[in-house]
Amino acid sequence: MSILQEKDRRYIANTYARFPVTIVSGKGSVVFDEDGKRYIDMGSGIGVTSFGIADEVWKNAVTAQLDLVQHMSNLYYTAPDAALAELLCGRTGMKKVFFANSGAEANECAVKVARKYAQERRGRDCYRIITLNNSFHGRTLTTLAATGQAHYHELFQPLTPGFLHADAGDLDGIARMMEKEPIAAVMIECIQGEGGVIPLDPAFVKGLRALTEREGVLMIIDEVQTGNGRTGALYAYMNYGITPDIVTTAKGLGGGLPIGAALLGEKVENTLGFGDHGSTFGGNPVCCAGALSILERIDDRLLEEVKQKSRMIFESFDGAKGILSVSGMGLMIGIKTEKPASQIAAGCLQKGVLCLTAKDKLRLLPALNIPAELLREATDLIKSVCAE
Ligand SMILES: *Cc1c(COP(=O)(O)O)cnc(C)c1O
Repeated sequence: MSILQEKDRRYIANTYARFPVTIVSGKGSVVFDEDGKRYIDMGSGIGVTSFGIADEVWKNAVTAQLDLVQHMSNLYYTAPDAALAELLCGRTGMKKVFFANSGAEANECAVKVARKYAQERRGRDCYRIITLNNSFHGRTLTTLAATGQAHYHELFQPLTPGFLHADAGDLDGIARMMEKEPIAAVMIECIQGEGGVIPLDPAFVKGLRALTEREGVLMIIDEVQTGNGRTGALYAYMNYGITPDIVTTAKGLGGGLPIGAALLGEKVENTLGFGDHGSTFGGNPVCCAGALSILERIDDRLLEEVKQKSRMIFESFDGAKGILSVSGMGLMIGIKTEKPASQIAAGCLQKGVLCLTAKDKLRLLPALNIPAELLREATDLIKSVCAE
C-alpha cells in the first residue's frame, strides 16, 4: 500500500472497498496510476464521465463558465441551468426541471413531488410509493427505503415510511397493492443497475404504464444510471415506448461534475411551489455548463455508435470461455462469469482494465465515445481473464 493509500485508509470514512490503485490522470478512456501504469477505463467513474476523462469539449465548457461565475445560489438567475433545462425538456417532452446534486437527491425530489401531487388530489393517506425488489435508488434514508434490497437497510431503521416493494414482472401483484391501499406513485429503473444489470421486460413496463394511468398513479423512472445515452437511447424509457410522469437522472449527465435532475411531466409541472423544495448547490452554473455540453453531444449519431459498440461487446463475449451470459443494453453491460466477478475485476485490474461489478456480475459502463480499438483491446483482455 502506498503512502497515499495509507493516508486515505486513515482519514477517509471506511465506506469504500477500493481497488488497490491510485489514479492520477487520464485522457478519454485511458487512465494512469501513480506508477504510470496504463488502464483502459471500462467503468467511467460508475457511468459518470460520459465522454471520458479530461474531454476537451466538456473541459472548455466548464472552464469558460469558471471564468464567468462559479456559483450564485438560486436567489439569482444564471444562464446555464435555464439552457440545460430547456434542452432536457425539448428532448424529452417533460415540462420543468428541478436541479439537485446527485441521483439520490433527484429521487428525493421525485418522491416529494409524487407525495404532494397525490395528497392534494387524493387525500392525506395517499403517499405510498411502490418500487421493485432488487432495485437501487440511493443512500439517503428515503431513497434507501425506496431501494428494494434489505441488506442495505440493516441497522439504519427506521427508514422513511411509505414504500412498498413488488417483484419485477408482477403486474397482478402491483394491481392488488393499488386496490388495497392508496398509492401515489410507482418508481422503477428500466434496467436494474446495481441489482445486476437486469433489463425489465418490455411487456411489464408497458403494462405498468397502462395500470398507473388507469389508476391515476404517477410513474417515476429512475434514469440515474440508464440515462443520458447510456443504453443507446437518450433515456432508457424511450426504448420501452412509454412516457413517464417524472424522470430522474444524474451520473452521466454532468460528465464528471455532480448534478442530478428531476424532470417533471405535464401532470406535475406545477406541483412544487415557492419554498416547497430547494438546494444551495442545485443548478450550479459550472455543473450545468458541463452538463449542457454533454447533452448537446448525445445526438442520433452518437446513440447509433453506442448501439454498434454494444453489439460488438455482446458478440465478443457470446460463448467465450468462462462467460455464462451477458445482459444489458447499450453500453450498460452485465457479464455473468464462471469465476466470482470480484476475482475477474481484480484480474482485469492487473492486466490494465478497470471494470465494475454489480451483485454477482462484472459490470461495464465505458465512456459513450470509447474508441472501438480500445473497446476491443479491453474486451480481449477481459475475456483472457475469464478464460484463465
Ligand atoms: C447511482 C444510482 C443512484 C444514486 O445516485 P447518487 O448520485 O449516488 O446519489 C440512484 N439510482 C440509481 C438507479 C443509481 O444507479
